[in-house]
Amino acid sequence: MDLEATELALRSTMHQVGGRLLEQLLNADGAGYRGGHVPCGQGHQAAFVDYRPKAILTVLAPVAVQRAYYHCDACRRGVIPKDQDWDIAGTTFSPGVRRLMGRVGGKEAFAEGRRDLAELAGIVVTTKAVERVAEALGREIETLAQQEQALALAGKLLPLREVPTLYLALDGTGVPVVPHETVGRPGEEGTGPAKTREVKLGCVFTQTRLDAKGRPLRDGASTTYVGAIESAEGFGRRLYAEAVRRGVARAARIIVLGDGAVWIWGIAAEHFPGAVQIVDLYHAREHVAELGKLLYGPGSAAAKDWAASRCEDLDAGQVERLIAALGRLRPRGQEAQEAVRKAQGYFETNAARMRYAQFRRQGLFVGSGVVEAGCKTIVGQRLKQSGMRWTVRGANAIIALRCAELSGRWEEFWEARAAS
Ligand SMILES: [Zn+2]
Repeated sequence: MDLEATELALRSTMHQVGGRLLEQLLNADGAGYRGGHVPCGQGHQAAFVDYRPKAILTVLAPVAVQRAYYHCDACRRGVIPKDQDWDIAGTTFSPGVRRLMGRVGGKEAFAEGRRDLAELAGIVVTTKAVERVAEALGREIETLAQQEQALALAGKLLPLREVPTLYLALDGTGVPVVPHETVGRPGEEGTGPAKTREVKLGCVFTQTRLDAKGRPLRDGASTTYVGAIESAEGFGRRLYAEAVRRGVARAARIIVLGDGAVWIWGIAAEHFPGAVQIVDLYHAREHVAELGKLLYGPGSAAAKDWAASRCEDLDAGQVERLIAALGRLRPRGQEAQEAVRKAQGYFETNAARMRYAQFRRQGLFVGSGVVEAGCKTIVGQRLKQSGMRWTVRGANAIIALRCAELSGRWEEFWEARAAS
């Protein structure tokens, strides 16, 4: 006996049997007939017309559902109470199948998701259907997030408990988009029109303890994510709402971590005015290393020595010494002069955000590795695979889906849906 073939054949049989049972269950309600008239939802009465079957794909098998069909003459549209009752309005997929489609569509390319559904669950759908349903669920998640945001901004979202130290780590990462999404947006110098749009991503996490060496420890499973392709204003509100949900109002210390991007510090100033601002140490070091290469030649001992000394300044919390060292440079050539000027601007602007020795004494994280990993996980792994080109609408839906999933809120979303 070929066990594998037998297993799969039996699974198929079980699905057929389950499908028949589910069909009986779904049709045991008199097709949702509620008398001659039902309210249409717009203040009129819709009149009963007839019964109309619809095929619904469930996790077991396709089932035929009988539904009482009403029509509102004033609205000129059909009303089917049963579709509302069972959450199958405007779709031929059951909520259970949609959940699985959202799950795979959030995780992997839609075509891969289609294959996994067939292989793992015996559910056969099209790639396009996975895409449509996953993105629709992402938009539903976003709608709930917007409602939550409105509550947070109105002061109606109360934090659960006190938080010792709350971190907000911010970063941006590009997502490849279809050409019409970058009209009027120039790309980087000399590369023609932009091919990507920036996703702004925020990680919120807490810290309670230090390890034996006095280094901060991120609280387990405390990281949640928000992200979207949107303006700094919109993203600022999104991040603020998440911070409120995570207890920013009851946080003893608030830390904003980021690279040198101007929008990050604008958001910090507007929404988290009392927060400690920290520029990611590794970005600061990278600036030093890049400048060293430009001044003394890539790979040269002089470049390494110079960069090592400047990194020591950074570690010692001596940003002023670093800035003074930049001032002593006499670079030749326009490119080098311009690079030094830029570096001076960067370190002067961010000097107060680079007190690394002090931050370490306070037991704080000085690196934004969490959000960089978040960019890779939430955005890179799913949205930046080769050949992918997104619309902003589609990308934002999948980002919303992934943020919910990786923030541990997927189950919560389905419970909220079931309750509404
Ligand atoms: Zn009506």
